[in-house]
Amino acid sequence: MSLATTTRRFVVGTAGHVDHGKTTLVQALTGVDTDRLPEEKRRGITIELGFASWPLGEGVVASVVDVPGHRRLVHTMIAGAVGMELVVLVVAADEGVMPQTREHIAACEILGIKRVVVAITKLDRVDRELAELAGAEVSELLGERFEHECVLVSAKTGEGLPELVSAVRRRLLALPPPLATKVPHLCIDRAFSIKGAGSVVTGTLVRGELTLGSEVRIVGDKSATSSVRGLHVHDHAVTRVEAPSRVAVNLASIALEELSRGDVLTSDPALAVTRRFDAELRLLRTVKPGALLEVYVGTA
Ligand code: GDP
Ligand code: MG
Repeated sequence: MSLATTTRRFVVGTAGHVDHGKTTLVQALTGVDTDRLPEEKRRGITIELGFASWPLGEGVVASVVDVPGHRRLVHTMIAGAVGMELVVLVVAADEGVMPQTREHIAACEILGIKRVVVAITKLDRVDRELAELAGAEVSELLGERFEHECVLVSAKTGEGLPELVSAVRRRLLALPPPLATKVPHLCIDRAFSIKGAGSVVTGTLVRGELTLGSEVRIVGDKSATSSVRGLHVHDHAVTRVEAPSRVAVNLASIALEELSRGDVLTSDPALAVTRRFDAELRLLRTVKPGALLEVYVGTA
């Protein structure tokens, strides 16, 4: 029996201002240091998306996507947000709401992420009252637009972490079951090659399922066909994976040059590249006539 039939999987993300403690909290919860690049180590900030498997008690496992909080890296945060069903919004108790707290909340709203568990962290640094005040400030900001609750934690002492786990678990289990489709839709966020294995892509499988040996299409700048030679879910080899989940796919007979962030891996024959689409524009602030707007679709 595959793991997928006995375990419910979810994709959860972090959000919040730079240095508020997202990466430290993910490490305290999962044991994984998602800041793996030398530059991230040197500068002490997250630059690329980080991923970890987060067991949430019996029968529930989340893939957690740790995002950068820096202002200039909002595009990376948005690419990482694909498929997130719940966000852990991290706010440092000693600083409260900061610009990227607001910006990430706005991004979540636009992306349709409705469920937020607020982690008021660094509780070891302040009086509980101050942390509660920060929590009230965030709750007010989230208002009626989100389903939310607030947990006070410290990634340093571990205080509040069990409560955070159970809040996230409870909210995830209340989600409706995933769409009953087998057609995969995986938004690629990384492509690299491994000696002896060939091209590998990673991303969030937002719909459908992938099985070893199945035929797939890559839809993007250079569309191509391939088949699934290997499948990994958080470093474990599997023969089948159902959405939603983080996945690494080893693709047969395809060159790395044919793959890039933003591409979609699917078997849907109808999915095609287009330069025209209908969009509904909702302005959060005034935009000058003729302004260039950036469009994000999936991880593109
Ligand atoms: P990120 O930018 O949101 O990912 O923040 P980091 O996880 O990189 O943390 C920023 C800084 O805050 C680091 O120096 C951490 O050691 C520190 N930090 C994070 N969580 C806590 C906490 O719960 N307590 C204390 N005292 N420091 C923390
Ligand atoms: Mg970080």
